[in-house]
Amino acid sequence: MRTSYLGSLLSLSGLLLSSEAAAYTTRVHIALANDIHGALVASTDGRTVALAGSDAVVRLAEDDARSIRDWPEAFRAGAVGPDNFVFPGMTDLTHALGLSPYDQCEDLYGLAATDEERAYALGCFLHGASDAVVHHYVNFLTGETFTLNPISHARESSFSNAARHIVAESMVQDALLDADPEVFGEEAMRHTIPQDFALRAVVSPTSPAWTRMATHALPAWEVVDAADPDAFLVERVEALEVAPAEYLVLLPLMIDRAHIDLDLGVLAVEDTLARYQDPSTPIGGRLGVEPGPDGLLGTSDDDTDCWLTCPELYAEYFTLVAMLEPRADYGGTSATDEIVAELHGDLDGLLPAYVETVAAASQAINAPLAPGESSIDLVELDLESLTGPIEDWADDLVDIDWDLVARTAFPDWLLDLEDFLSSLGIAPFLNDLLASYFQPLIDETRDAVLDIALAEAEAVLADLIAELEASDSIEAEFLERLQAAAPADGPGTVLDDLPSSGLWMHSHNMVAVTLADHRMMLPTEPDWGGVGPASFDASYTLAWSQPALCDDIRPHVLPLGDDLRALLSLSVDGVQHWAEPGQDAPVECHAGELTAFTTTPDGVSCALTDLDTLMDSRTGSLSRAFPPEIAGAGAACLGIAIDGLPEPETETTGTDTTGTDTTGTGTTPGTSSETDPTKRAAPKSRASEPSGCGCQSSSSLPGMGWLVLVLLPLSARRSRH
Ligand SMILES: [Zn+2]
Repeated sequence: MRTSYLGSLLSLSGLLLSSEAAAYTTRVHIALANDIHGALVASTDGRTVALAGSDAVVRLAEDDARSIRDWPEAFRAGAVGPDNFVFPGMTDLTHALGLSPYDQCEDLYGLAATDEERAYALGCFLHGASDAVVHHYVNFLTGETFTLNPISHARESSFSNAARHIVAESMVQDALLDADPEVFGEEAMRHTIPQDFALRAVVSPTSPAWTRMATHALPAWEVVDAADPDAFLVERVEALEVAPAEYLVLLPLMIDRAHIDLDLGVLAVEDTLARYQDPSTPIGGRLGVEPGPDGLLGTSDDDTDCWLTCPELYAEYFTLVAMLEPRADYGGTSATDEIVAELHGDLDGLLPAYVETVAAASQAINAPLAPGESSIDLVELDLESLTGPIEDWADDLVDIDWDLVARTAFPDWLLDLEDFLSSLGIAPFLNDLLASYFQPLIDETRDAVLDIALAEAEAVLADLIAELEASDSIEAEFLERLQAAAPADGPGTVLDDLPSSGLWMHSHNMVAVTLADHRMMLPTEPDWGGVGPASFDASYTLAWSQPALCDDIRPHVLPLGDDLRALLSLSVDGVQHWAEPGQDAPVECHAGELTAFTTTPDGVSCALTDLDTLMDSRTGSLSRAFPPEIAGAGAACLGIAIDGLPEPETETTGTDTTGTDTTGTGTTPGTSSETDPTKRAAPKSRASEPSGCGCQSSSSLPGMGWLVLVLLPLSARRSRH
């Protein structure tokens, strides 16, 4: 559930909305984390989780179980991590097709060096595994996978779909709170992002997870760099063609560039001094600098041809000399070196401030919630205070007391010179001269971060808020649809008894089995966005997962099935009440229309495409929200043994190549229980199974050759003014 934040942000912005639209749910991911944590703590060996709707259990690797048991606050923070980064309400880069979100979790896991960090990384898998379940349900209600270019607007920009997602997810949160008034209590919601880990694993260009998030942003940055390698930071950021979220993912590169700009500022000082000393330049010719008694050029005793007749030149020359002269009391560095070192340090404060901003936002939107309360009542922050740490960083960066710096950094002889010239009626010059070299660079860095990167994020939220204000009737519409699909013999809708629903049971089970072995949710081959789960957002992601593909695992993890009916059905006191939705979540493939999906999806209409191409061709899928059999995809059971579940079948095929572990991560736990590859079961393609939508096709899809950033083009098209 990605948009939980947004509801809270609405309240943060001070707009009064219905409590339904704002009562929210990254909290639901935290509730699931508590569910898993509680199961581990209660189990006799400390690492076992019982599956819902099955007699089976799964057992986590000891390191993983210990990390979750010992670091519940980090586990909870990780469980909402993909919704926290890169910014509240801007979760495309950790969720969408084409950005390998499950691999991002594995990247985090591979980088975790402590139990606390491991707990956070495992939380990411919890988020992704439960999103795969919940979004199938949410997309059924909303009409399609989360997008800013919905079919209701013929794929033009609109926040209408985003608003519908917010409402659908808030209804789940309300249902959970109804079932357990304590579920979002203060203790239950307490969570802590390991900030050093976030800096190292999420907000760092050296992290593979960052590289995946920057799949589109990094090439865009490189285009700007290639267009003008000498451009300063603010010019680069102004020239960028990226989505709002991508400005934020590029912050580390922006700050790297700000460092370079600062060093260029030093070069400018050196260049200017050289011009003053060069008699062939107009300034140098007029000033006529010669070495003084010490025989060295560029020291305090230099001679000049003029001084009273050229006071500005004279003053600036000796200021430059003082800025660059090595000082014994500074260990041989110059005043400029000292000043610039300080500014470099200030610049380095940006990324920690950004992570602090995210952490503060997470506290705000996951504030405790009691029955009858809405987050509007509990969170009385505004957007400015949410972004406080970055704003504070920016304020501190640009607010430089140049007088103090001058008094501290410059040698006494220069201060004396200024006093002397002042006594002759020449205005004080040191502060202004010093500031003129560095203040503009610092100001531009601030502008790039605040006025462009952060402002883009705020603009998106403002647009979304406007949309939500107009979304009053959505909840009633959804309730009507849920009631129509509810079991005829039963206790109401899925929201009337959420803990008994397939939605909740399967979320719990998918999380447990994925924590036991990440390969349950890791894609293998690169085709179709990844053979396997490739999006946190899309419907039918579950159908691409190992628990759905493996006959040995499915009855225990997805006892009610992997379709919409399973999620809407209820198991109450041992009695199964089957929902009757009459349809599944939309299969999101276009065949000639932009305002609707085709009712006869096939390999052509489901070929993955990007938004621009779709707008022209009106054919293809942006989300991969379709089951693998439609693509003719080779999604197959890999025969992975899960500790606690029955051993997979051991028939061998000899020609099985799909059973090879192609995740290439080497960090997946549970290898001790991994099936001997020679004993892996033959891959079982879903193509041989009945399809929920009855829309199988033998057509095959082209493999790569597509670039999907489903949600990004909207913002790339936004004009920023
Ligand atoms: Zn999410």
